[in-house]
Amino acid sequence: MTEPLILFTHPACLDHDPGTGHPERPHRLRAVLRALEGSDFAGIRKREAPLAEIDQIARVHDADFVRLILDSVPTEGRVQVDPDTALSPGSGQAALRAAGGACAAVDAVMGGEAKRAFIAVRPPGHHAETARAMGFCLFNNVAIAARHAQAARGAKKVAVVDFDVHHGNGTQEIFERDPSLFFASSHQWPCYPGTGAPDERGVGNVVNVGLAPGSGSVAFRQAWERQILPAVDDFAPDLLVISAGFDAHADDPLAQLELTEDDYAWVTEKLMAIADRHAKGRVVSALEGGYDLRALAASAAAHVRAMMA
Ligand SMILES: [Zn+2]
Repeated sequence: MTEPLILFTHPACLDHDPGTGHPERPHRLRAVLRALEGSDFAGIRKREAPLAEIDQIARVHDADFVRLILDSVPTEGRVQVDPDTALSPGSGQAALRAAGGACAAVDAVMGGEAKRAFIAVRPPGHHAETARAMGFCLFNNVAIAARHAQAARGAKKVAVVDFDVHHGNGTQEIFERDPSLFFASSHQWPCYPGTGAPDERGVGNVVNVGLAPGSGSVAFRQAWERQILPAVDDFAPDLLVISAGFDAHADDPLAQLELTEDDYAWVTEKLMAIADRHAKGRVVSALEGGYDLRALAASAAAHVRAMMA
């Protein structure tokens, strides 16, 4: 029987601790998991995210970089890998569970066990480039999922769409020269990390839409309806992967877009329709940002509810 949705997570993802006062904190994941325990989600099957194999990560990242990150994990205290990104003793296991959850989610969806999968993990991944950890991200979980679908599961074309308020520079950098992959992002502009201008188009496989600070539902929905959704539809992926960051919510402290939970439900419904048309419904969604606990929990719940519909 095909499950409507499998949730992949692991307690080790709570042990990545970038430090007191850091917005990307373990409570984020607790808040999301608690929200998904409501009666709306009784149909969800929960699975432990396995540890990724190094080879799965090395399809995306330089093997030397993967080793450097894992070898840098301290036995106590913290090691900074960029001004925003720190390793704590639990970070290596958390990052391996996050990437492993991404691959297991692809296996479940491409193997017909589930129609959709949501990966509730941290650290997030979309800022991580081929050989660079940055912006709270160590390994690029969605890119690892896309490459795993192609290398191990026979997918020819994989699309990643990213509605996190920050541009997914890492995913773009990994995808931009490969026409079998597609990347589209809406994000606040200007904002961290500074990439994501509309003229960054890869080999015609990248779509970037910047939204001015203060933009809300109308501008967001227009961007998706007019630019991103038609491009994903044209690309006709075999698998749709979502970088699901919820920091464009009006209550989020890190940026100034004004989205509501309803906007996340809306965009998710539109994406499910495209997946149903081209990809036999197959969708893998991975948690990225979202830093106000209440807004994050409510937005993730709206997203997952729409994935199950
Ligand atoms: Zn973000």
